Amino acid sequence: MKLYLTSLGCRLNQAEIEALSRRAVALGCQLVETPTQADWAVINTCTVTHVAARKSRQAIRRLRRENPTVRVAVIGCYGEMSRGEARALTGVDLVLPNVEKERLLDHLLAEVSLSGPAPPENAPAPLGRRTRAFIKVQDGCDNRCAYCIVTVARGPSRSRLPDEILAEIAERQSEGVQEVVLTGVNIGAYGRDHPESGPLPVYEGWSLARLVREILERIDIARLRLSSIEPWDLTEELIALWPHTRLCRQVHLPLQSGSDAVLRRMARPIRVAGFRDLVGALRGRAHEMAVSADLIVGFPGESDTDFQETVRVAQELGLARLHVFRYSPREGTPAAGWEPVPPSVARQRSERLIALGEELALAYHRRFVGETVEVLFETAIELEGTWGWSGLTDHYVRVWAPYDDNLHNRLRRVRGLAADAQGLRGEIVPEAGLRGSKAAPPDARDSHAQA
Ligand code: SF4
Repeated sequence: MKLYLTSLGCRLNQAEIEALSRRAVALGCQLVETPTQADWAVINTCTVTHVAARKSRQAIRRLRRENPTVRVAVIGCYGEMSRGEARALTGVDLVLPNVEKERLLDHLLAEVSLSGPAPPENAPAPLGRRTRAFIKVQDGCDNRCAYCIVTVARGPSRSRLPDEILAEIAERQSEGVQEVVLTGVNIGAYGRDHPESGPLPVYEGWSLARLVREILERIDIARLRLSSIEPWDLTEELIALWPHTRLCRQVHLPLQSGSDAVLRRMARPIRVAGFRDLVGALRGRAHEMAVSADLIVGFPGESDTDFQETVRVAQELGLARLHVFRYSPREGTPAAGWEPVPPSVARQRSERLIALGEELALAYHRRFVGETVEVLFETAIELEGTWGWSGLTDHYVRVWAPYDDNLHNRLRRVRGLAADAQGLRGEIVPEAGLRGSKAAPPDARDSHAQA
């Protein structure tokens, strides 16, 4: 069976489609790079905003336009929340709810026998970058933020078994992946499952902090990164894991608003003072810890004063990056029927915050000019008429440097020369080679530690 896989939305969707591609290849399916070659096309959809839902519909229709004979399977949050609508879209043969997602291949393979020829040698490898792998550790959420459809679409918080996660990371590391990103809907809730039947003994003593600690102790992966974590789940035990030479100094915390009044209406169990303390605690642990945040503008009832509070708090905290979202009412959420902020006001506010985000990112990137940073290189790029490479530091700063040898999936040190809002331009430091392995002296990732 020829399978085309694609995903929209969050890193969790990406982690799921990467894992699906690996299972499919293990079961003898052939992955193809375009829907035109496929028997089945699988799309992992998103509905976090109305724009995401629209993009999911457009992507589904595009599959059938590109190949009128392909069979389409829709999974993910748009399929979960708009099952009838998704089924009615031309060419959709299968819509699976999120809880059924893991059994998608059983459904697809039930109809076909894989007795045909084995996939050709040069068939595309399972999806995913060879430099970085997204690893699903948890799904669902037990919180009830007033604007959030994800908690509705993905159900209660459920953790993956620790051994399964460790085995998958060890396997990816053995394949040469240098960085793994732990992802989920609410990774901070790892190990705190509350099924009706009561807490599961298998997760006794487990938390995100313990999971991170065990991964770092038991697997020599060069880099471990956490995806977004709700601020109230950032425990002292987790914060105490920094600095660690292989734990990325980047934490993404959804703040959503700098106004306590708005946070209260959003039903988010965090206040600005608490958030400020967490940022301070993180910064106290590691050099140039990158703290970035999600912010929603235009939430019902958000006044000009509330918005100015958000701007002031983001500036005061000197966040490394801002992800700015305009509030999007989602049917099925508590806030769906509330009086919206006029779209023109919401647009102005998001433009203001996006511009602030650029200023803050530039200020943060400038800190690395003159410093030496360690970069995991991913892609070759053309740099002003010469070849170079682009990659990310463990702070998640994008770095470009000229170099005409192959640096794909290599960790190299770069001296920062110039910064802009997108990242850092640098030069490769001759290899006195250090890489974030266990053998590395404390924090050898950048120059300041050696002062
Ligand atoms: S914590 Fe809130 S915003 Fe995050 S997934 Fe859960 S309900 Fe949604």
